Amino acid sequence: MAQSKNKIIIIAAPSGSGKTSVVRHLLKTMPGELAFSISATTRRPRNHEKDRVDYYFITIEEFRNRITANEFVEWEMVYEGKYYGTLKSEMDRIWKNHRAPLLDVDVQGGIHVQQQFPDTSLSLFIEPPSIEELERRLRARATETPESLIARISKASYELSFKNQFDRIIINDNLDRACQEAEDIVRKFLIP
Ligand code: 5GP
Repeated sequence: MAQSKNKIIIIAAPSGSGKTSVVRHLLKTMPGELAFSISATTRRPRNHEKDRVDYYFITIEEFRNRITANEFVEWEMVYEGKYYGTLKSEMDRIWKNHRAPLLDVDVQGGIHVQQQFPDTSLSLFIEPPSIEELERRLRARATETPESLIARISKASYELSFKNQFDRIIINDNLDRACQEAEDIVRKFLIP
């Protein structure tokens, strides 16, 4: 439960790798230890997304002001024109509640956080079984336009080349097994 140090769990993966399912599993099974770190973004909310629950949906102007005010632990323009970032205030909020923030971020963002907190962070890379399978999953999700689908797939191939910089790689060829593996690794890190 209470941790001696302020720890951080980073989950990164190309989109469509099953990362969100792993994140949901961890939050459900470890509610006393983890809390979702709500990122700020300038992209529009999708159908069921809620402001201040899924993301802090803010304008580009506000996002840039917050960069200038040094309010982010890390931020990225993950897709053309769309900013995403982890706020320092969000991590502090979660630590104050005696939880470890669970960061669902893109691969570059994950590496940046890890570099800033090398001793207190655990970084997991969720790897899709193949690029073909990833494309199939993204199509099935049906949240993408043809252009954004292509953008996500080409970004995914690039992101896979960074997997070895993460503390652990979890291959998601079976979602239940990937979730269990992630849970075991996170538990060991938080409660050694
Ligand atoms: P989506 O638009 O599908 O919600 O997220 C797109 C990508 O942005 C995902 O890989 C997601 O993990 C990543 N992302 C979400 N929040 C952040 C953040 O705060 N920082 C960074 N670097 N990436 C983020």
